Parts: sequence; structure tokens; C-alpha cells
Amino acid sequence: MGELISVVIPVFNEAAGIQSFLKKELIPTLKNLKENTEIIIVDDGSTDKSLEIVKNYTFPRRITVRIVALMKNFGKELALTAGLREAEGDAVIMIDADGQHPAEEIPRMIEKWHKGAKIVTAIRGSNTTKHKLGSRLYYILMHKAGDKNLIEGEMDFRLLDREVVDDFNQFTEHNRLTRGLIDWLGYPQEYIKVQTKDRIDGAPTYSIKKLATLAGDSIVSASRTPLIIFGYIGLFIMAITFVPGLFQLIQEYILGDPLKLEWGGGVAVSLFVAFLVGLVLISQAMTALYVSQIHAEAKNRPLYVINKTKSVGLKNGKK
Ligand code: UDP
Ligand code: MG
Repeated sequence: MGELISVVIPVFNEAAGIQSFLKKELIPTLKNLKENTEIIIVDDGSTDKSLEIVKNYTFPRRITVRIVALMKNFGKELALTAGLREAEGDAVIMIDADGQHPAEEIPRMIEKWHKGAKIVTAIRGSNTTKHKLGSRLYYILMHKAGDKNLIEGEMDFRLLDREVVDDFNQFTEHNRLTRGLIDWLGYPQEYIKVQTKDRIDGAPTYSIKKLATLAGDSIVSASRTPLIIFGYIGLFIMAITFVPGLFQLIQEYILGDPLKLEWGGGVAVSLFVAFLVGLVLISQAMTALYVSQIHAEAKNRPLYVINKTKSVGLKNGKK
């Protein structure tokens, strides 16, 4: 029988580049492997011709292909999750469809796996992509925010052993970061340094895509919007009371009221109270964010919905 390697590819509106990625990068690499291979393409509700393109693509015979078509756009993390649940390989590799992840590194990952690695993650070596500033900023912020496990340049291009995939498939949270969950499992990880590339289609659509996701997020979460608005009001109150408050403090109590404003204690107290109200409103908005998260998880909806009519060759996707 031999070993089976699964390759999971999340795809969202990649019509411009997916064909060239499959033809020039992924398939030539897979053809040279001695292991059996299967490709799981997860169409994350693409609105362009991505799904048609992959359906019409002629894959080499010895590569099994299954297409998981999601009902709508659920986001990359859930698309990956759907793919991992469908994959049956002894090792599963996740790779982006836009050509930014160098498929030619797959043999190196497999080699490490054969030597016993349970997780092999690609990290960005020195590179030329426009990604650099953005990811550097992301890294700094996340690190500051307490995500100490984050390794700079870590990519969503990795190999997972079957054991790890089985554990990963137990997670039930909706709001998920694949990397974070994998870290949480606690398996030792190995890294390979790789050279990233630009998107095949050249257009840096990712920023627009991300903005759209953000916008979508805020519309969908309308139920918490009122409290968030109060948060902004709080921020505003704090900002407008802080300056005159400081001014009064200095001019009256430190300098001894040289301007003869004679504002007195009343003004000081009201400014201070307004400032505190601002603080309270902000912290209330923060609480709202947490509660809305809890609410979203507690509803315990399915993570995604598979469009069975559009999918091809599903084995595990019936749930
Ligand atoms: N993707 C997806 N669903 C989305 C957004 C992206 O499945 O809602 C896929 C996309 O097709 C690509 C991968 O996830 O294969 C990474 O997306 P992108 O290149 O936009 O992200 P970045 O490279 O900025 O991390
Ligand atoms: Mg990309």
C-alpha cells in the first residue's frame, strides 16, 4: 500500500492563479514523490470561477482528488478545518493556493516527517514579498499581546502527522487560529526555512480581502455594536476631558491660577467624573466583546456547511 500524503488547499477566489499553481508547482512536486498522494481542495465559497477551474482540471491518474465545496465563505481557518477532516493521509500538508508557499519544499517536509517529526512548519526566510511589513507588525503586536509561542515568519504551510490531525479534529471552537490550536496541542515542532514568493496573479488582493472580512465581521456582529459604540463614546469623553482637566490641574493648583479663571473645585470634580465615566464605558465595551465571543461559541453551531451537490468524492464530509 505505502504511505499516503494528503495536501489540503483552501481556495477562495483564486481563479487567476490556481491553475498555474497546480500545474507548475504542486503537481510536478507531487509527481516526484514515491508516496501515494491525495489532494483535498476546499472551495471556501468562491464567487469567481475557482471551483469550475479545479473541477475541470485534469489531474494525473495516481493523484486522488476530492473537492469539498463549502456553502459560502467561512474563512480560511474553517476551510482548513474542513480539509483536515476530509484528509485521510498518514501525513497532511496544508498549503495556500495563491503560489506564495513554495510547493517544492514539500519533499523536505516529508523527509523530516520520515525522521520522526510530528509537525513541520515552514518559516519565512529572507524574502522580497510585500508581506514583510505587515507580517512584521502582526508579529510584534501578537507577541506583545502575550502570544509568546509565535515564531516570527511562521507560515500556514505545514505538515501534520496523522496523530496530530486526529487530535486537531477534536477542537470545537468556531473562532479559531489553526496555528494557535496546533501550538496548544503541545507536540514538539520542527521548522524549515523557505523562500516565499509573490502571489501568482500579482495582485495583492489579500489586503482588500482582509478588509472585507473585517467589515463583514462588524456587520454580522451587530448585536454587540451598541455597546461598542458606547465604548467609542467613552473614548471620546476621556479624550475631551483629559486635556482641560490637565490644564486646570496645572494652571490652578500648580501655577496658582495666573489666568484668574477661578474654575474652582466644581469644575475639577465634573471633569474628573466625566473622565471616569469614559473609562467605565470603555471597559464595558471590552466586556461586551468577551461576552459576544462566549455567546458565539455557546450557540455551538456547526463549524461550516458543505455543499454536497457541488463537492466531489467526499468521504468524511457527510456530517
Ligand atoms: N482563503 C480561504 N478563505 C478566505 C480567504 C482566503 O480559503 O476567506 C485561502 C486563499 O485562497 C489562499 C489562502 O487561504 O489559498 C491564504 O489566503 P491569502 O493569500 O488571502 O492570505 P495571506 O497570504 O495574506 O495569508
Ligand atoms: Mg497569500
